[in-house]
Amino acid sequence: PPAVSRAAPATAAAAPIITGTLVKVNVSLPEAAARAAATGADGVGLLRIEHLILGLGKTPSWYIEHGAEEEFITELYTGIKTVLDAFPGKPVWVRTLDAPTDEFRNMEGGEEEPIEHNPMLGWRGIRRDLESPDQFGLQVEAFKRLWAAGYDNLGVMFPMVNHPDEFTRARAIMKDLGVDVDNVTLGIMIEIPSSVVLIEDFIRAGIRFASFGTNDLIQYTLAIDRNNEHVAEMYQPEHPAVLRLIDYAISACRRHGVECSICGQAGSDPRMVTWLVEHGISSVSANIDAVRRIREAVARKEKQILLEAARRNA
Ligand code: PEP
Ligand code: MG
Repeated sequence: PPAVSRAAPATAAAAPIITGTLVKVNVSLPEAAARAAATGADGVGLLRIEHLILGLGKTPSWYIEHGAEEEFITELYTGIKTVLDAFPGKPVWVRTLDAPTDEFRNMEGGEEEPIEHNPMLGWRGIRRDLESPDQFGLQVEAFKRLWAAGYDNLGVMFPMVNHPDEFTRARAIMKDLGVDVDNVTLGIMIEIPSSVVLIEDFIRAGIRFASFGTNDLIQYTLAIDRNNEHVAEMYQPEHPAVLRLIDYAISACRRHGVECSICGQAGSDPRMVTWLVEHGISSVSANIDAVRRIREAVARKEKQILLEAARRNA
């Protein structure tokens, strides 16, 4: 792959590191919470709920049609609570449901899922939730109960957003459902190039944080299917277009004091993380097994930045 550019953005020199880059961890199943917490990570930068929900064997709409909403909410509440309990006082960003329709197909209720040629580009993430507020509402109810129980370290992250209106509408639905939206942490995944282009508009719309979902950002920027072995060699996290998009979004977030993070696989790569720290990212979230080496890579880079700054000022 092409070498990572070492050129610092114009803003990097002007904004010295005040707090170090946080190193968080990704969690995909509540059962992994204890192992994730044992890494000493600074929080959870991505809690996926797909596996928890797919593991139930029934689609969210099945629960609604069968009047079993309470069962769904309880499962979700309990799963997320397990992770929150493992990270007391540390931020835990729960991502709203982001399973493509084909993953629901073989479940009870799956026959009602739309048949799509391109599920990865289809009815998933925030699109699904905005079109089916009843399904979104089940998730919001679980979040609401957790906030009411005092878990104010819970943040909610919306996947697959491509327009600030989607964030605004999701926030409005949450408000209608009784969430005190001004006092909870809501943010977005940056995984579609349009959300990079419009990052300032997202910031104006009130996001509290943004996190790069590089797994998707790479595939949508380069038009390379992330699951297609025939083009796997062209799937390049360090492609200059990807790096430039990331740099652009980090710079905007820094200018406006919005936390900027990464939770895609690239956040578990020390070389990429070194580049991200150099370019001013505020936190990174790595796989459980990668937290330690990512922490070392961050520390090495921060030490270098601080030494260079000290020498300049000496
Ligand atoms: C990503 O796209 O980088 C991401 C973290 O989400 P997922 O891999 O679940 O699509
Ligand atoms: Mg994604």
